[in-house]
Parts: sequence; C-alpha cells; structure tokens
Amino acid sequence: MLRLDHVDVDYDGVPAVVDATVEVPDGSVVAVLGPSGCGKSTLLRAVAGLERPRAGTISWDGVDLGGTPTHKRGFALMFQEGQLFGHLTVARNVGYALRLRRPRRRAADAERVASLLGLVGLEGYADRLPATLSGGERQRVALARSLAADPRLLLLDEPLSALDAGLRERLAGDLHDILRAAGTTTLVVTHDQEEAFALADRLVVMRDGRIVQQGDIADVWARPADAATALFLGYARVLEGRAAALVLDAAGLPGAPAVAVRRSALTLAPTGVLRGVVRSARATPDHLRLVVAVDGAGDLDAVAGPGTHAGPGDEVGLAVDAARVAAVTAADAR
Ligand code: ADP
Ligand code: MG
Repeated sequence: MLRLDHVDVDYDGVPAVVDATVEVPDGSVVAVLGPSGCGKSTLLRAVAGLERPRAGTISWDGVDLGGTPTHKRGFALMFQEGQLFGHLTVARNVGYALRLRRPRRRAADAERVASLLGLVGLEGYADRLPATLSGGERQRVALARSLAADPRLLLLDEPLSALDAGLRERLAGDLHDILRAAGTTTLVVTHDQEEAFALADRLVVMRDGRIVQQGDIADVWARPADAATALFLGYARVLEGRAAALVLDAAGLPGAPAVAVRRSALTLAPTGVLRGVVRSARATPDHLRLVVAVDGAGDLDAVAGPGTHAGPGDEVGLAVDAARVAAVTAADAR
C-alpha cells in the first residue's frame, strides 16, 4: 500500500503541495481531482520520486521511499500524451521495459506483449508504427507499455485529457475495465470530474495545493465538504449563505443567485449535505420562494433569485460548511 504522510512539496520555496496525507490501498484505483495548477502533477511526481518533498514521508508497505530513486520504486508513470517511441512498432514499444529487464527472454516476452495488447484491445496492432494510430490507440499502447513491467503502482497523469470528448468517454470505460482486469494499484490525477468518476473507487479532492476531501466516490459525491467542492464535482448550482445570521449572500460563487433561508431551528451537521425535496415553489417578480422538506429538520423556507429553476419534487441539498450553509440544487445529481 502506498501512503503519503503530511507531504509538502515546494518549488523554490513556493508551496505546490501542502500537508498531503493519502492512502492508496492495494488493488484500488484512487483519483486525485482538482483544477489546473492545484498541485496534482506535483503530488504524482513526488510519489514517482521525481520531486523531493520538503517535509513528510512517502512509503510503500511501511517502508520509507525517501532514499529510493525513481527507477527502483517499482512504479510506472504514464502522462497525458503517452510519449511512444515513434520509430518502434507497437510490440516493441510495449516490450521496451521487458527488454531492458531481461534481454534474453524473447519468447516469454513476445507472449507477454501479445497478452498485454489483448488486454488493451489491440490484437493485430503489433507491427504498426505509432504514427499510424489514432490518439486513443496510442494511449492504449502507452498503457500496455506501462503495465508491461508489472509495476506495483501505476501512476497516471491526465491519461485521457488529450483525447476528444467522445473518445475520452469510451476510453474511460475501457481503462476502468483494463485496470480492474490487471488488478494494478493505481493513482490517477485529473482535472476532469467525469474522468475521475469513470475510473476510480476513491476520490481525493485538491484545491490550492491542499487536500480538501477524500473518501469513497459515492460518499464524496453525496456529501461535498464545502460549496466550492460541490460546484467542482458538478453540482448544478450552489446557493450560499450564513446559517448563523440567516443573512445570505451568494458572493463569490459564479452563477449563484442570492438566497434567503428563514428557519432558525434547523439543525445543521458540521459539514456535509442535508438532502431535501422541494415541496412547493412560488415565483414572485423578484424571487422564487421554495419550501424544502429536509429529513429530520422539517420544512425549510428558501428564497432564491429569479434565475433559479426548481419545482415540486426536485431534489435539492444544503451543503453545510462550518458556519455557512449552502443550498445546492442537485436536480441533475447522480
Ligand atoms: P496541476 O497538475 O494540478 O495542474 P502542478 O502540480 O503542475 O498542478 O502545479 C502546481 C503548482 O506548482 C503550480 O502553481 C505550478 O505553476 C507550480 N509548478 C509546477 N511545476 C513547477 C516547476 N517545475 N517549477 C516551478 N513551479 C512549478
Ligand atoms: Mg498536471
């Protein structure tokens, strides 16, 4: 099992990863999800041994990897653009690591390469050159090449981001199945929530170098740690306000209209989302007035801005973030 304990990584004294504590259990696929520049690649590069943490430890099965160089960690790293060797055939690309390791075992290697090409759905492609392949096919070859050396950990940096949307979706499904079939413990970083949801069992959400939430995908989806996380995960709209004063303010949330919540007796969990169902909605010239039934908290009166669309039966949520409360319209929630 991979474990990061309170890892900090700086570039010239500027923090890129701050206090990262993450576990990647054997056989699991863990996705690190966050916007561009939040420190995902830096985290991955530190795990690979390409960046040296300023503080904290990175360990495998309890053994500190601090003194272990990249090529002795037993990890494979694959980037956004698989970076194949253009002058080598598909088979020779996939077999590259095998030839380095055990130059004399040709027959066994040929078998292994064939089985990997089967795994990634590229039987019959052995003699093709990378230039003759589509983007998706090239990524599959890169994946087969990464798996060839039987890494104890596979590190994927935005593996599908260079592909166009339709292909990305299809390959995400395939990649999910390939990783499960190979049983390879995987840490994947991406800015694309669809990619993370398609591939992973566990999610680590990063923002500004820090981990803001982690857990099983379904739990993170159901209970985003705060309004920004809810928005980033793809919640349609977050209406934010202050629970204590019941003075509500949507400032800082793109596209969020103002909302007023008037119920002082509402019991709020310290963090998480309270789910509710809209009982009634009444449009006035300036507002949409909602009554929301929240389990265990009774009915909640809410006044949303005129741009809000919510009607009886729609599921909504209250994302609760310490002293703040955010009403989340989750009509399109999974
Ligand atoms: P992500 O992969 O989430 O987009 P990165 O880990 O690449 O983010 O970058 C995190 C931060 O570290 C960014 O502010 C980026 O500009 C900075 N950074 C990344 N690589 C370097 C580098 N080699 N030297 C200096 N700063 C870097
Ligand atoms: Mg990156």
